[in-house]
Amino acid sequence: MAEPKENVLMEKIVSLCKRRGFVYQSSEIYGGINGFWDYGPLGAELKRNVKDLWWREMVRLRDDVVGLEATIIMARQIWEASGHTKTFSDPMCDCLLTKKRFRADQIEAQSGIAYFYGGAVDESGAAHNVPYSVLVPAGKPPESARKTATQFYELRGIKVKSLEGERSEKAEQTTRYNPENGSLLSEARPFNLMLQTYVGPIQSEENIAYLRPETAQAIFAQFKNVLETSRQKVPFGIAQMGKAFRNEVTPRNFIFRSREFEQMELEFFIKPDEAIEAMTGTVATPGEGHPGEPQPDWGWQMWHKYWVEERIRFYEGIGLPRTTLEEYWQKPEELAHYARATVDILFKFPFGTQELEGIAARSDFDLSQHERFSGKAMGVFDEEVRTAWGKLDEEKKKALWQRYYDARFKYLTKSGVAPVHAEKDAKEDADGLAKGQYIPHVIEPSAGVDRLILALLANAFAEINEPDSKGKNETRVVMRFHPRVAPIKAAVLPLLKNKPELVAKADAIFKDLRQHMMAFYDDAGSIGRRYARQDEAGTPFCITVDFETLEGVKEINPETGEAVSNPEKKDTVTIRYRGNTDADNGKQERIAISELREWLLARIR
Ligand code: ATP
Repeated sequence: MAEPKENVLMEKIVSLCKRRGFVYQSSEIYGGINGFWDYGPLGAELKRNVKDLWWREMVRLRDDVVGLEATIIMARQIWEASGHTKTFSDPMCDCLLTKKRFRADQIEAQSGIAYFYGGAVDESGAAHNVPYSVLVPAGKPPESARKTATQFYELRGIKVKSLEGERSEKAEQTTRYNPENGSLLSEARPFNLMLQTYVGPIQSEENIAYLRPETAQAIFAQFKNVLETSRQKVPFGIAQMGKAFRNEVTPRNFIFRSREFEQMELEFFIKPDEAIEAMTGTVATPGEGHPGEPQPDWGWQMWHKYWVEERIRFYEGIGLPRTTLEEYWQKPEELAHYARATVDILFKFPFGTQELEGIAARSDFDLSQHERFSGKAMGVFDEEVRTAWGKLDEEKKKALWQRYYDARFKYLTKSGVAPVHAEKDAKEDADGLAKGQYIPHVIEPSAGVDRLILALLANAFAEINEPDSKGKNETRVVMRFHPRVAPIKAAVLPLLKNKPELVAKADAIFKDLRQHMMAFYDDAGSIGRRYARQDEAGTPFCITVDFETLEGVKEINPETGEAVSNPEKKDTVTIRYRGNTDADNGKQERIAISELREWLLARIR
């Protein structure tokens, strides 16, 4: 998709991120490094919250998912089996004039007049036959094309006397030219995105290693170990999060597409549909909405739908409303050859609606690949399937056997196994199923931490216009994070910093709260400024310790009309809700210090 030249909202977000310490450019003091970003104090908290919430939801609160924490560098064969060494590439092309590199599939289509040249003649009269072409907008004189072409030849050391063989042609919606200067681009060629390094002291071919471009592969490689040590049975999942690296051709849109990023991935292993059918007679098919609690008759379609809905529910639960998300079901021609279905969950970013997470039904491709490449069995034995198979009538056995055989045969031949061998192997696999053996299929919800952070930042960003303490209108930012993800949950503010009793009380509250949540103590400046600073950081609750905390809340005596302290209401604090949150908008209430911690915990969980 074309990137808008300017995006005011993105500029505001990037500048807030730097000013408040959410995200900085990596290596900024040396001019930065393209495609790398650092998280500052608020960003680090935000990121930690996002990852903790994912882990809690996907691993800790489930009986059927366990975790894994694997290395970034792994055996090279992993990337051969997964297909990354051969096919993990983007098409890339270069501007023939400036050498600037583009992703060929992201070039904006343009129309205009294309000028072609056969070459140039230099001042000595020698001809240089180097074909070149320039696109100029319709209506622009040919001189501008000639000027660009002359530059092109001069950059090649030719002192141009004349251009040769000029001809022009109308061009419609072409992506062969640099949108910035009209110069012809080189032919697109594949560019492998894996970052490469060497392991050990010798920089030789056999010591080449890759920084993982996704976290998923380690899950497949460790599948058997986890199965044997976790007491899980299919269906179950293995979750992992961590760094991934891709040498993106054009990193862009801030932390949306970077070269070092983090992923949160789940591989959820399920029985093949033939095994389900053997057990339950039929395989359930999904309808609208969430399919509810997992059932024994769920095949890959139900599990896929389930995980799409679960992941959307997760996003809603951390403050991204459904209206900001879209589901995109990839069309059959867009699917990877092994994928049965892929749904992208898209978020409406300021620069366009783009992928936040992909949820793919990947059949048994991954484990099958590792079985073939490593020579180690990746299948499971499933007593339930074996028993169920034994009770089937002959016709059903034959039909299911055939379907499983066909699927395995198709996988093997597509992977380059010769048909005679594929036949033999597929037959063995189908015979295996009859004995309760199969390679699990997998559903993969794969999310990017940094993209989610950007979505949360963009969704939270709000500007409000309010009179300041002197009555002058000012625009300020309020980050409306859901309390679950907000970097700081509660700020403790003594009304005045030169009153020791107030400070001591506030300090005690802060020291208690920080044991349970990210709390922040601030005594600098007017209370209004301190609220504004917390609004900008996205802190949902400010706790003000004032004189009423010490003396009791003042109440009006109905007889005298006088304001008198009510010592029974001592030891209460003011809770001030973040400004401009949809529901609460700067509302204030009083609450007893003894109830404060539980009150907050109930609202940030
Ligand atoms: P895209 O088409 O945008 O490059 P992808 O389809 O290649 O993404 P996957 O390989 O499915 O992405 O990776 C899963 C998730 O990892 C993505 O949904 C995204 O959130 C995240 N991700 C992938 N590449 C990057 C990147 N370069 N920077 C940040 N996050 C990324």
